[in-house]
Amino acid sequence: MTDLDLIADVFVAGGGPAAAWAALKAAEAGADVIVADKGYLGTSGATAAAGTGVWYVQPDPAAREEAMASREGLGGYLADRGWMARVLDQTYANMNELATLARYPFPVGEDGRQIRRGLQGPEYMRRMRLRVRRAGVRILDHSPVTELLVDGDGAVAGAAGHRRQHDQPYRVRAGAVVLATGGCAFLSKALGCDVTPETERCTRPRPARRCRAWSSPTPTPSRRSSPRSPRRPSTPSPPSTTRTGQSFRARGRTAGRSSRGPC
Ligand SMILES: Cc1cc2nc3c(=O)[nH]c(=O)nc-3n(C[C@H](O)[C@H](O)[C@H](O)COP(=O)(O)OP(=O)(O)OC[C@H]3O[C@@H](n4cnc5c(N)ncnc54)[C@H](O)[C@@H]3O)c2cc1C
Repeated sequence: MTDLDLIADVFVAGGGPAAAWAALKAAEAGADVIVADKGYLGTSGATAAAGTGVWYVQPDPAAREEAMASREGLGGYLADRGWMARVLDQTYANMNELATLARYPFPVGEDGRQIRRGLQGPEYMRRMRLRVRRAGVRILDHSPVTELLVDGDGAVAGAAGHRRQHDQPYRVRAGAVVLATGGCAFLSKALGCDVTPETERCTRPRPARRCRAWSSPTPTPSRRSSPRSPRRPSTPSPPSTTRTGQSFRARGRTAGRSSRGPC
């Protein structure tokens, strides 16, 4: 089977909540987005199988101060207050968005108000997958990323991996690459996130390599012409140097054909 070559504005590696939110927000901002998970976006990662406590604190200065002070102690006073404030802001916004836009069924307290301090992973990630798909993101499930790819200047310009269910290598050329492959659970043997040595080899990123196919001086444009195009970032520029002079077409791969593939 031939390799699959795709082009996007943003490529997201991973399929947990971080990847799902990154893909969703990039798509909502008008970008053409591809996300690839080694498992299945919606059921893989530590959150999807678990109940998750969330740092949901009202934006009241005293409540926020108390929340940050408590975590500082727990973290041995290594935590950064700027980051904590950012996490508190983002968590508050995201939980409210889940309640309103995604209609997540938060439990209701005795005072009749929703309790937004926790999420049931399966329901949460099921809704995130729906939202990601509805935003037009192309999802590559069961497609571990194995390499980052760089352009002629050495800048990260995409990623490569393998579509396990199709036994097919793939590459995505993208203007921005987001790595959201977790970290908390990797090899922790918790929540089904343990991996076999065979899978580990497949999922440990190797050093970035240059992608010869991307040295095309005339990259094929992205598949979709989105109605949101005024806000879309431009298609990534071609690398400035050419190692082989080969183009996608010269290598027998046209983005038109390949982008009709899986997503
Ligand atoms: C036991 C336990 C309890 C926890 N409890 C909480 C809690 O209560 N509250 C809380 O906020 N956090 C908790 N965490 C932390 C939790 O893991 C994170 O908050 C959350 O899951 C991080 O989301 P993520 O998207 O960054 O990573 P993950 O949810 O781990 O998702 C990573 C994703 O990347 C994919 N991936 C990995 N490698 C590759 C690759 N090479 N190519 C493609 N895809 C890849 C995986 O398949 C997975 O879908 C807990 C963690 C553990 C282990």
